[in-house]
Amino acid sequence: MARYRLYPTSAEEHALLEHCAHARFVWNLAVEQHRRSTEGQRRTQGFGEHCRQLTEARAESAWLASGSCTVQQQALKDFAVCTAAWRSGRSGRPSWRKRGRHESFRIVAVRPDHVRRTSRRFGSVFVPKVGHVRFRWSRPVRVAKSFRIKQESDGRWYVAFATVPASVPGPGNGAVVGLDRGVVSSVTLSTGEMYRCPMPRSADITRRRRLQRRLARAERGSNRRQRTKRALGRLTVREVDRRRDWIEKLSTELARRFDLIRVEDLRIGNMVRSARGTIDHPSRGSRCKARLDGRILSNGWGLLVRRLEDKAAGRVERVHPAFTSQRCSVCSYRSSENRKSQAVFLCGRCGHRANADVNAARNIAAGRVVTARGGGPTGPPVNREPRHSASLVAVSEPSHR
Ligand SMILES: [Zn+2]
Repeated sequence: MARYRLYPTSAEEHALLEHCAHARFVWNLAVEQHRRSTEGQRRTQGFGEHCRQLTEARAESAWLASGSCTVQQQALKDFAVCTAAWRSGRSGRPSWRKRGRHESFRIVAVRPDHVRRTSRRFGSVFVPKVGHVRFRWSRPVRVAKSFRIKQESDGRWYVAFATVPASVPGPGNGAVVGLDRGVVSSVTLSTGEMYRCPMPRSADITRRRRLQRRLARAERGSNRRQRTKRALGRLTVREVDRRRDWIEKLSTELARRFDLIRVEDLRIGNMVRSARGTIDHPSRGSRCKARLDGRILSNGWGLLVRRLEDKAAGRVERVHPAFTSQRCSVCSYRSSENRKSQAVFLCGRCGHRANADVNAARNIAAGRVVTARGGGPTGPPVNREPRHSASLVAVSEPSHR
């Protein structure tokens, strides 16, 4: 996603917010229906069915009909994509979007002449029912088939063209790496290297608390409240940007250095995670901070895997996560006694001593690729020839209806 700062006039901003409101309304309608039908155990409605309902809704509501059909249809398409990701365990369940927090919409079928360069530093992008909106030409623009327009919580607007990042060639020497995720080291490689995801700085955490208290005291609809909200938004945007940047760099580096990258399958990983006690193992005083870190890390981890799959397409494999922390990566002896502490692994049979995360990452590097059946949790790991296409297809398919 290449993002550019968008500078709408106030009339344009008004129209953009209206698009956002339509997209959000349609999305929330789909969420509502989806919740009802899954609770009632009925078959859930697909994209096609939702589109037919949208046509009916537009016939009945002048407000919806006044908006862009593309914007509303794409909100449904986004919902369909998110639901499929949720079913296959790759992301959380689609939930309601809120005014002021989720202000975005997507435009498809972009024609090359919809994006123009108007001066050295500025360009314009065509938005249906709004017209050409100015954006900052901060780096070369590759026009994609679709783009998303979004207002961040700090009030700034952006346009992001949906370019798939260029694939990064691997070294071609057959190098395999396993990635383990943890709290102390966010990502540990089977080579022993450890990477730490940028976390909110403690000064920022203090500032956030202060702003939140101020927000709670501020009167509804007051300027002070608006200013505080924007300041909170700026904090969030800065933190998210820092993490995104980190993920971009790390995923490029890994795709370049290794031919095969193995990660735990999240579908199963989340279930065994609490038993492993890596994320859900905070000490008393730092429980709140640990929860926050855990949430950030699980979001970041999902994004890292997606970026790896973009950049190292066909070279990422998901392996079964069971017992990766209890098994000795040298002799395969498995026991909960092997894990001496959060940091230390000591094999009860061969005496292999290692950092616990590195040992786990080595097991992941040698792990069994998850098959269509999900793979079995028992038995020693088998070093197999990579089965790229088979395993990736199996993982990307929804696991149930
Ligand atoms: Zn051992």
